[in-house]
Amino acid sequence: MGTSATDRDILIIGGGVFGAAVAYDLARNGLGERVLLLERLQPAAGATSRAAALVTQVRDKPDQMVLAQQTLRTITELEQVYDEDIGRHTVGALHVAPTSHLHVLQARADLAAAHGIACTWLSHTDALARAPWLAPSSFDHAVLFPDDCYVEPYLFATALLRAACAQGVQVEAAEATHILVEDLCIQGVGLADCRRLPARTVVNAAGAWANLLSAPLGLPLPMAPVRSQYWITEPSPLFPRDGAIVLMPAVRAYARPEVGALLFGMRERQQQVADPRTLPADLTGFVFDTRDADGWGNLTDGADELAPYFPALNTLGIAHYLTGPSNYTPDGQLVVGAAPHVKGLFVASGCNGSGISFAGGVGRLVGELVRGTPPFVNPLPCAPGRRGHFDPFAADFLAACAAARASKTSG
Ligand SMILES: Cc1cc2nc3c(=O)[nH]c(=O)nc-3n(C[C@H](O)[C@H](O)[C@H](O)COP(=O)(O)OP(=O)(O)OC[C@H]3O[C@@H](n4cnc5c(N)ncnc54)[C@H](O)[C@@H]3O)c2cc1C
Repeated sequence: MGTSATDRDILIIGGGVFGAAVAYDLARNGLGERVLLLERLQPAAGATSRAAALVTQVRDKPDQMVLAQQTLRTITELEQVYDEDIGRHTVGALHVAPTSHLHVLQARADLAAAHGIACTWLSHTDALARAPWLAPSSFDHAVLFPDDCYVEPYLFATALLRAACAQGVQVEAAEATHILVEDLCIQGVGLADCRRLPARTVVNAAGAWANLLSAPLGLPLPMAPVRSQYWITEPSPLFPRDGAIVLMPAVRAYARPEVGALLFGMRERQQQVADPRTLPADLTGFVFDTRDADGWGNLTDGADELAPYFPALNTLGIAHYLTGPSNYTPDGQLVVGAAPHVKGLFVASGCNGSGISFAGGVGRLVGELVRGTPPFVNPLPCAPGRRGHFDPFAADFLAACAAARASKTSG
């Protein structure tokens, strides 16, 4: 006989890529029948389905590289064991820079070597063959990480959930309104329809809204939803479908193929942060800055830096603009692990704009902590309680999170 929802003592709040990855890890380790995942909209309806979905492994923080490496293993497992197609394009990430920024490429190549990540320096000609839209004069050096890829983020999250459900996890359309705690122990979750679901373990994977559930428990999470955005050009023969992901660290821009067009993001002059209390549950039509709802102002602001790399930017039309929230943290670390003082409460969040790259690793890490097995990566730097008591909705804290996006350098 199957397990009913109320028998399930592990509740995951949020069906984005993080919640799905935690469910997947618990299921593949035999706990599927104990897990109920609550999602108030549809799976992947939040930040996940809006992602550019680059999966890049080289990061400023070595622990985060380990998480991203695990994501590639998870994706391979979904493809090979569960026969899932998540739209992976292993086109490699090409990092290009002028000589003034050669040290940045060298540092990334060194990090890759230290972590066993494939990496190869390319000639100018070979680099241009992978990205014919690049201006030849815009870079002197190019290094390729051939195993990096991009995926279809909706398919990635839903494939994780399908595999989890095949091993006993149950998904329910329900909104959690509060987490129930008594004597410093998790008791369950209260729902918008007034039900109370008892549980011994709760994983808060509610994305940009996670602080609304955690802060009332005296556990403010050190993160805030900051605007991520990108643009997609009209199609052009300049953009081969198997072209590489391109990272341009000197101008903090990135690009990747998008079915015959180019998807690109770049350094913004102005970051935008939202107070989670005013962020709508349904992001359809949501923009951070209503004065620049189509992103045109930001595009024209930043175009002078990007155009020397991508001259066709000045003549091609823009077909799409996409924006959504990513949880940034002032220290650039994730917000993942056990809550201090509340037994049975865990958090999977704080993606810093790279949650697709980290999802497999975050799912495994939180799964290990819930299961009480030794974690495969040190969880201390991303501990949810590391900032102590503070107001996660205060204007100066929100500004510090926005500033963290301004200094992000990894892909
Ligand atoms: C424009 C953009 C581009 C990006 N590009 C990349 C990229 O190239 N590479 C990369 O690695 N990452 C990228 N990201 C980041 C990535 O999308 C996020 O890190 C990731 O999706 C976060 O997943 P999540 O599960 O934490 O959040 P979400 O996907 O937002 O999931 C949270 C879920 O919780 C649900 N929820 C919230 N509150 C409740 C509640 N009370 N009860 C029930 N359910 C609830 C929501 O409905 C939502 O479905 C990008 C993000 C954006 C916005």
